[in-house]
Amino acid sequence: MQGAILVLSGPSGAGKSTIINNASENIGEYYFSISTTTRKPREGEKNGVDYYFVTHEEFEEGIKAGEFLEYATVHGNYYGTSLKPVNDALSQGKLVIFDIDIQGHRLVRAKMGDFVTSAFITPPTLRELEKRLYARATDDTSIIERRVENAKEEIKAIGEFDFVIINDEIPKASNQFATIANAARLKQNSDELENFVKFWQN
Ligand code: ADP
Ligand code: 5GP
Repeated sequence: MQGAILVLSGPSGAGKSTIINNASENIGEYYFSISTTTRKPREGEKNGVDYYFVTHEEFEEGIKAGEFLEYATVHGNYYGTSLKPVNDALSQGKLVIFDIDIQGHRLVRAKMGDFVTSAFITPPTLRELEKRLYARATDDTSIIERRVENAKEEIKAIGEFDFVIINDEIPKASNQFATIANAARLKQNSDELENFVKFWQN
């Protein structure tokens, strides 16, 4: 049994968490890849639920031990995806959903090739993104400004993704995400196709 990977990327504040949570009942069984980060937890965030929160040193030990499928420095902190739980979920035939940045998307696509379907999500405008980051009120002004500056670069990678979701209205964006997730499950990788052809010929 082989699963599939769905990467969701977009600027901080684009609505990635909101849309995944909102669509969760319409996308069947899936495994959400919990990332490891050196960023400090925000109020209400739980270790092992939102992220695995670790120190800089612990993260670098993980890098040395080859624990990460991919990792990157985003907004000045390390963020990474652990390899083992992803492989376990894939071998159980699950859809694995990643909320990772555009560098992570490039690395995962390079390593996992045709297992990957990807979507870029963004609010309709930069101004709206900024408004939502301030309304979310989880970060200081300097952190929000840094995220808005990064977003100006991140949007340039939009053409690297299979799909784009403009998160204007939450229900519409959630439906689009569910459609993409269900299509990601149906995407065949080359191993599966080879096996199918052999089976079909006999
Ligand atoms: P991300 O996970 O991409 O950083 P969030 O899901 O935390 O983004 O969303 C950022 C903020 O924007 C949250 O406060 C969320 O409630 C709000 N939000 C998300 N989608 C919309 C939308 N379509 N319209 C208005 N606000 C939204
Ligand atoms: P936040 O601090 O707002 O939770 O996340 C900041 C950025 O880091 C977002 O763009 C998010 O997608 C990205 N991110 C979260 N986890 C990972 C990860 O494991 N790898 C990479 N490359 N990016 C991640």
